[in-house]
Amino acid sequence: MTDSLHHGLRYKRWRDPVLWLGDYKCCLCGGTDDLTADHIKPVVTHPQLAFVVSNGRVLCNKCRIGDMLDSWSKLKLKKGGTK
Ligand SMILES: [Zn+2]
Repeated sequence: MTDSLHHGLRYKRWRDPVLWLGDYKCCLCGGTDDLTADHIKPVVTHPQLAFVVSNGRVLCNKCRIGDMLDSWSKLKLKKGGTK
């Protein structure tokens, strides 16, 4: 499980300045509810950037899910659109 990333003290130390720098606002819709710190470059492909504050941005959960779905559909297209 990579889920432990989201519960560690290291994650908290990364997330707090990301939220602070982002003014506690979602960078896409400007919302202030359900905020979360998101990695600009995914940890899956850039594990060395997992705790780099400049690789973080503030998203609300709604935009984060939308963004994830968006990148998944792009990924599918890249792979040749398997149905
Ligand atoms: Zn948002």
